[in-house]
Amino acid sequence: MSSRKKLIAGNWKMNKTSADAVALVTDIVAAVGRQADVDVVVCPPFTSLEAVGKALEGSTVRLGAQNMHPEASGAFTGEISAGMLRALFATHVILGHSERRAYFGETDAFVNKKVVVALKNQLKPILCVGETLAERESGSTLKVVQTQLEGGLAGVSKDDAATVVIAYEPVWAIGTGKVATTEQAQEVHAFIRSLLVKLFGDVIAQKVRILYGGSMKPSNAPELLAQKDIDGGLIGGAALETRSFVDLVNAAIAAK
Ligand code: PEP
Repeated sequence: MSSRKKLIAGNWKMNKTSADAVALVTDIVAAVGRQADVDVVVCPPFTSLEAVGKALEGSTVRLGAQNMHPEASGAFTGEISAGMLRALFATHVILGHSERRAYFGETDAFVNKKVVVALKNQLKPILCVGETLAERESGSTLKVVQTQLEGGLAGVSKDDAATVVIAYEPVWAIGTGKVATTEQAQEVHAFIRSLLVKLFGDVIAQKVRILYGGSMKPSNAPELLAQKDIDGGLIGGAALETRSFVDLVNAAIAAK
């Protein structure tokens, strides 16, 4: 049992119209929107943030975005700033997701700028790190994770570090149905915790939540969530349906 409150975050990716998003979140709120045993965050597309935020009012479920730009405003067509997210009452933002890194060329340095700006704007970053299959097979998993973690957190103060959430997401497990074994996941989570100790000291490192992401679902969640350094999940596919998402929240409550 850990002193860290578990966190279940749903990454809806490019799915759901605003109306569909409100329908889903209304059901989620009805099922788990009053409990405070675990933290729950939903991250709809930008187009649904406002409507979902309104549907969350009065509940314990928090609103997150899937990305943001580090600049405050200006000529960045198609982008959204931290201030815009705050104005919609978002509390979290996913940064450095492997899909952003792979399809949109996001580097550690760019992700780091966003992390720093998010924190300045009182947004909690959910910083994603993780290796590809080729990197795992070549034995460089820990090196890749270390580079992404240290790069992403450069310049973050001790005070801010405790509010950062890390998501370990092996790229080969995302949306593939292949889940990391509990041993594989716990090994990397413990390694991330040891890096956080080096960067910020033990007291802060023990406060940081490290989520697992990659084909997490109700059937595999209890074993993953029982691991010492797995503090919750970043959920893709299973976050798109009320039943599976609520079951994951309940699995986290049972594992707390
Ligand atoms: C994700 O993309 O953050 C993710 C974990 O997706 P899935 O649960 O579908 O593997």
